[in-house]
Amino acid sequence: MTDPAELTHADWQARAAAIRPETRLFIGGDTVAAASGEVFSSENPATGEPVAEIARAGAADVDKAVAAAKAAFPVWSRMAPRERALVLYRFADLILENAAELALYDSLEAGKPIADLVSYDLPEVATTLRFFAEAADKIEGSVTATPSDVLHYTLREPLGVVGCISPWNYPLLMATWKFAPALAAGNTVVAKPAEEASLSCLRAAALFVEAGGPPGVFNVIAGFGEEAGAPLARHMDVAKISFTGSTAVGRLMLRYAGESNLKKVGLECGGKSPNIFCADLPDLDAAVAAAVEGIFGNMGEVCNAGSRILVARDIYADFVQRFTALSEDTYRPGDPLDPTTAMGPLVNAEAKARHLRHVEGALSEGARRLFGGGAPDMPGHFVEPCGFGDVSNAMTLAREEVFTPLAAIIPFDSVDEAVAIANDTVYGLAAGVWTSDLSTAHRLVRDIEAGVVWVNTFNDGDMTQPFGGYKQSGSARDKALMTLAEYCQVKSAWIRL
Ligand code: NAD
Repeated sequence: MTDPAELTHADWQARAAAIRPETRLFIGGDTVAAASGEVFSSENPATGEPVAEIARAGAADVDKAVAAAKAAFPVWSRMAPRERALVLYRFADLILENAAELALYDSLEAGKPIADLVSYDLPEVATTLRFFAEAADKIEGSVTATPSDVLHYTLREPLGVVGCISPWNYPLLMATWKFAPALAAGNTVVAKPAEEASLSCLRAAALFVEAGGPPGVFNVIAGFGEEAGAPLARHMDVAKISFTGSTAVGRLMLRYAGESNLKKVGLECGGKSPNIFCADLPDLDAAVAAAVEGIFGNMGEVCNAGSRILVARDIYADFVQRFTALSEDTYRPGDPLDPTTAMGPLVNAEAKARHLRHVEGALSEGARRLFGGGAPDMPGHFVEPCGFGDVSNAMTLAREEVFTPLAAIIPFDSVDEAVAIANDTVYGLAAGVWTSDLSTAHRLVRDIEAGVVWVNTFNDGDMTQPFGGYKQSGSARDKALMTLAEYCQVKSAWIRL
């Protein structure tokens, strides 16, 4: 097996020219065309050319996939948890054995740098599966203190069919954060990846069956939000929707649940994360490097991107100068299939237009452009990363989730002011705090309204870290042992002896 980290630009280009992806839906252990026979075309954002013609699921396909998942539930949920774990371990192994192919699909469809996929996304997919495989037989209930003529115990049982609706920015990884704990807990799954990047999930479904997963346990349908996602979220036989995506669509999930069967809804939504640099931070170079990566990594298409960079006035000028130099040096748009490329194109024409529109908007609202913000003369949807200084938190640039490589640097005069700015947002996904003072660090951890607070680091962590938001960034947590509880329901057995 070739190590994907050793493949050259030419190797990846040759592989890209030769791909033959599975483009049909995966339902009940089989690949099937959409009931309507329709397909849609996914586009390579680096070239504007089509990647594949993919089966376009509609309500009839959702019905079929949910029926398959419902039929498979008794088998999977009653299988010994250790047996389920073994399937998930083999699944993780197969993901790694096929990492080059899966990485290529996510790069071609979403424009992600191949190096990021090989070094981060695919290993993390396997790690996530293994983490939840290890947890499958550690789901416990309790026996409570009762009068002596009663035995009372609680059980954690799987929910049934879980619908997993995921975005395109980490296509296979975000889907895995959903389906891995769902499957480990004994649920069956219908996953709907984003229409921009569905090939990796379709392939993963086949690998699950190859790993010994019973047919119908893990189904993947491809298609558009309103045509395939909405019928899944409205389905009467779906017990839970686990959603990652925008806050606007997250709202719809709650509505769909209310209008159908009151299914449980877990939401991982958008963000406008503050990254706060106090004057006493320990290492300015390390801090600036993390600020740059925190907003420009993955083209700024990251839910927890540190898009609001709050800098203490005392170090502001120095910080801005270093931030500008490092950004211009590191993040130059290039072919995502070149392993030296750190910045690919944006996902589509709409994202590129949004980037350019926000650059113009920031200029008209009086922010100071430090660098970038145009579009290089390249095919596809490439943009230049862009930094603005002297931003006020009232400006549109600081309020809306732009989801492109656009940094807003905001000066502050006191820690109290930094906290007020940090919390002045509808979002609350993540935050960074940079300080040498232990008291300031703990105080900010307490006072910042976000699900994740990093201190003297950013976008860091492992599988033990629950990841999810406060406020309109959502209600769910991904990763971490506690996540399993979100895919279970509690039964109380009260036995009069
Ligand atoms: P999106 O909300 O447009 O789409 C997400 C998914 O929802 C896709 O599969 C899409 O097809 C589906 N969808 C869209 N409309 C739907 C509808 N009416 N009914 C049912 N399903 C529908 O988001 P996106 O553009 O794919 O991803 C970017 C967003 O995801 C950003 O806001 C980002 O912050 C967020 N995100 C959050 C996290 C997190 O962990 N909090 C992680 C990654 C991305």
